[in-house]
Amino acid sequence: MTHNLPKLPYEINELTPYISVETFEYHYGKHHKAYIDNLNNLIIWTEFENLSLEEIIKKAPAWGVFNNAAQVWNHTFYFSWFTPNSTKIPMKKTLELINRDFGSFENFKELFNKSATSNFGSGWTWLVLNKEWKLEIINTSNAWNILTMEDKKALLTCDVWEHAYYIDTRNSRPKYLENFWNIIDWEKIESFL
Ligand code: MN
Repeated sequence: MTHNLPKLPYEINELTPYISVETFEYHYGKHHKAYIDNLNNLIIWTEFENLSLEEIIKKAPAWGVFNNAAQVWNHTFYFSWFTPNSTKIPMKKTLELINRDFGSFENFKELFNKSATSNFGSGWTWLVLNKEWKLEIINTSNAWNILTMEDKKALLTCDVWEHAYYIDTRNSRPKYLENFWNIIDWEKIESFL
């Protein structure tokens, strides 16, 4: 099975000024694509060749195949959760859960930002729903993702690798996070609850 770069649900010039075209050209066109190309090359003639991306992530040991497969999944998830028509606030069910578990949307954003800015080195910051139907903010390092945690479902992720923001906001991860909140597809998140 050959893995392909997924089509985005928007044009790459539609998220300006929050994410620039140049960032998309590098982050989506080069980084995301490289993970896909690496994965396709690594799985040829192996036990992973005919598995789905999800199956590869769950079965591969924590080396090259896993890292590339998980990064493909993480980037597809990250890029697909943006929209140029963001409501900028969560929809009804999502907001109820956020208010219940974090006090308020403002409080949730502050906690998520704190988690994302303190995620040391390269990684991902996630909003997840656990088995008890409670929301949690989780940091993972490098390629690690939520598919490896059986009791959690991912609702949102933020890529905090420097390649996600260095073109647009240079060394400022907080400025990148400020932009991030303007392009979230809250309707999509609502549909997963
Ligand atoms: Mn990335």
